[in-house]
Formats: sequence, C-alpha cells, structure tokens
Amino acid sequence: MAGTIVMKFGGTSVADAERIKRAAARIVAQREQGNAVVAVLSARGKTTDELIGMAEEVSVNPDPREMDMLLSTGERISCALCAMAIHDLGHRAISLTGSQAGIVTDESHTKALILDVRADRIRSALEGDHIVLVAGFQGVSSTGRDVTTLGRGGSDTSAVAVAAALGADVCEIYTDVPGVFTADPRIVPEARKLDRVSFEEMLEMAASGAGVLQLRSVEYARNHGVRIHCRSSFGSEPGTFVVPEGETMEQPLITAVTHSTAEARVTLIGVPDTPGAAARIFDALAGANVNVDMIVQNEPTTAGGRAEISFTVPREDLRVARAALEPLKGESYADLHKHEEMGKVSIVGAGMRSHPGVAAKVFRVLAHEGVNIEMISTSPIKISCVIDPDRVGEAVQALHSAFELDGEGTILEEESTRATRAEP
Ligand code: ASP
Ligand code: MG
Repeated sequence: MAGTIVMKFGGTSVADAERIKRAAARIVAQREQGNAVVAVLSARGKTTDELIGMAEEVSVNPDPREMDMLLSTGERISCALCAMAIHDLGHRAISLTGSQAGIVTDESHTKALILDVRADRIRSALEGDHIVLVAGFQGVSSTGRDVTTLGRGGSDTSAVAVAAALGADVCEIYTDVPGVFTADPRIVPEARKLDRVSFEEMLEMAASGAGVLQLRSVEYARNHGVRIHCRSSFGSEPGTFVVPEGETMEQPLITAVTHSTAEARVTLIGVPDTPGAAARIFDALAGANVNVDMIVQNEPTTAGGRAEISFTVPREDLRVARAALEPLKGESYADLHKHEEMGKVSIVGAGMRSHPGVAAKVFRVLAHEGVNIEMISTSPIKISCVIDPDRVGEAVQALHSAFELDGEGTILEEESTRATRAEP
C-alpha cells in the first residue's frame, strides 16, 4: 500500500448531492492510487446552524448534553450519504460515528477536548479494504460515555487527530478556498495564497481570526507532527502546506494580516491591587470554559488605588463570562463594562521575531489611516490591535500593502546586510 491519507471535507464541499458525489470521486481516486483512505466529513452546508436554530426554538438555554446529541447528527448524515456514493463507484466503504471511530474526549459538552483516539476499528476496516468515513466534530466522553462535540469547526481537529493516530502521511483539508492567504481575499483582492506556513504562524493566524483551520487542529498537528495540506475541493492545484518551522522556505518579515470582528471586550473596574485578584477572576472564567484572548492590566498610579483589567473573549462566550464573574462582584471588582462591538487586526510572521521596528511600523500605518488603537497585545511572532470594527477592512488593506504582501513580501536579507538596514 502506498500510504495512509486522511481527507477532510468541509461543509460547503458536501453541501448537496452533486458535491457529495464529487467528494466520493476524489476519495476513490486516492484509494485507486493505492492509498489507505480515511475521510472525515463535516455537516452539509448550514446544517449545524440549522440544528442550533432548532434547539433555540424549543429552549432558551438548551441542555449541553442534548445539544451534542443533536449537533452530532449533521456529520453522520454526510458520512452515510458519502459511503453510499462510494459504493456506487464500486468500492467498499463504511461510515463511523466519532464514538465508533474511537475518538475519546473529556466531558465538556459542546467544546470537548480529544483525549485519545483508539483507532483499532478504523484500522481493521482499512485492512478489510474499506474506505473509512468518520463523522467529524464529535467523540464520546471517557467517563460519561456520552456523545460530545468539539466546538465549531471541530471536524478539522477530528481529521488531524485521526491522522495522528494512524501515523498518516498527510492530513488533507478540502475546503471552499484554495488555501491559506496573506489576508482574507474578500477584503484584500490582491492577497496571495501561501505555499507553506509554519505551525507556529498558523497557530497565531487561527487564533487571530483566519477561519481556514480550527485553532485546536493546528495545535494538535503541531504537537503530534501531522502535516496538513489545506486545499480546494473544487480544483486539483496544490494548496497550502502547514509544516514545521524549518521547512518553510524563504522567510518574509510578515506572513499574513488577519482580522476578527467576532470578539467582545470586558473591562473590570476597581480591581483590588493585591495578590490573588487576577487569579480569582480568571479562575472563574476558566471554570466556565471561557476562552480569554488578550488581557491588559495596569498597576494603579496612586498608592492604594484600584486597578482596571480588560480582556477579550469570543462574543458567543460573553453571556457565560458575565455569569461566571457575577458572584465576584464587590470583592474582586467594583463594576463590569462590556463592549460587544470590537474589531481586531493582527500581523503574523516568524520573521519579526528577530527584527526590530515592526510594531512601530504597524502603529504608524494605523495612525496614517486615522485608526485609533484601543488595546495592543503581542507575541514573539504576532502583533494585535483592537480597533473600531468599522475600520477593520481599511486597516487590513493598509497593513497588507505597507508590508508588501501583495508582491513577494518584505523578504528578510542576509545577516550581514541586515545590520546596516534601517527599519523594515
Ligand atoms: N459542523 C460543525 C460546524 O459547523 C463542525 C465543522 O464543520 O467542522 O462547526
Ligand atoms: Mg471549517
């Protein structure tokens, strides 16, 4: 056998009967090359949104366990239909739920973490000359043995986890775009497709709004050394490979500009300036499973003064975050302000790690556009600015062109010339 390939098809790639047949044909083509093939499928089109809508029609606060029972059905439909289409192409195929496929998770309904993939059932089906279709986005909890789901976009993580368990040669993510771009092409028409991007960069990009891959899938791939090939399901050109850092070729200063308008900001006023204050606040948020992104806090400037802490969360988590903090009001903070409308632009690039002046350039570009920066946070390879959501498009365009991402990008020069160079 040539190798083992995991192919993941997103919702638009299996949206109707025609597309399911097309995905089936692509899967069969890989099998006919001699590969063992596992395909992980998402729910068709808007199915998951529709299922969430159904739950909201019958309950104001749907029970998370039942929510997972409901949401997991979307992916099962895709897999069963695709298996039927593959049978008609003359191949053996078997569909499996996440649970049947051995995807074991923790107990946190609607955003479960994969703990283990017990892939023996997949393996024996492959040995029996079957193409295996695994329902994405779901697993079974290790103690409760209930159906769990992995959070929106979770089929990417299912695919990577199955690829890791099987030691697959590659995890191909088939989607409705040709790969990972230097910016969202809907905002920046000149954005370029990247041939390769490192795990580290892709992690920062996924965390700062690039929608191509679920953040957790990239994390899982990095931790288990799974090569991801993100490509279009509508053509045969290669897409973007997500690989270890040493394997990316030239090193541009900046790799991509990302943005998000899906977050909200919370500011806590009157936080006591004593040890343990922040710990209590963020313990409460962690306990409620709220994913906090940026955190900003300054020491009060006057003795005995109180601090302010601001942080950002996915907008869909805002309600849960407020509820989790409510019991701490008075003791751990005096008042809570929320800003539901918030924009964020980020630039990501491993090249900035060793290159000064990048932050200054970002701020200059935004200043030139008249965009006010409300919060700033950085990592060694990312700079994010919270800005007015209405200005996000302009900010992304300006940064994309200032860092020359529409051309070759600002390529880092050799060490010898770098020393003599002014700011990038
Ligand atoms: N169907 C799920 C969603 O829409 C999971 C996925 O597609 O990856 O989020
Ligand atoms: Mg997706």
